[in-house]
Amino acid sequence: MTRKEIKSVSLLYKTNTVSNTSKKIAVFPGSFDPITLGHVDIINRALPLFDTIIIAIGSNATKKHMWSLQDRKTAIEQLFENNNAIKVATYDGLTATFCKSQGAQFILRGLRNSTDFEYEQTIAQANDKVNGIDSVFIISSPEYGFISSSIVRDIARNGGDYSKLVP
Ligand code: ADP
Repeated sequence: MTRKEIKSVSLLYKTNTVSNTSKKIAVFPGSFDPITLGHVDIINRALPLFDTIIIAIGSNATKKHMWSLQDRKTAIEQLFENNNAIKVATYDGLTATFCKSQGAQFILRGLRNSTDFEYEQTIAQANDKVNGIDSVFIISSPEYGFISSSIVRDIARNGGDYSKLVP
């Protein structure tokens, strides 16, 4: 391949993926039951990477939740009400389908440990292959890596104080 051919192939590659002029939109999907300091850390650290982050609360009817969908949405909206780069939405069905409906090119996820990684890897590869949506992972900060919504729910269920784990 000549130098010129290599250049035109790499240019073609660039225009086929995310163009430099299009807005970079990421969907941060999750249950957020409830939103924790771990989630907030991931969102804040991802903000410089994207023009818009859509926090997307999955309304999986088969999953049991502690906080209602509306309560979770309102809490997150209030938390980020002063940040125009953050939007909050609810969705059901496939995350990739929701991404397409929003014009989002990326899925944002947090990684706490190898269990998170094992779980995320195949989903991310499938979303890329099937839908052309790439996943961006941010490793949790050490001080938040132990936090999960399920730990907060356990504490709440047993009448404990979880205020140090949530915003
Ligand atoms: P899901 O049920 O989809 O895992 P969650 O609300 O539990 O929904 O989590 C949403 C995303 O936030 C996931 O990518 C999860 O790994 C990430 N996450 C949750 N807690 C933390 C944390 N303490 N640090 C970093 N990422 C986290």
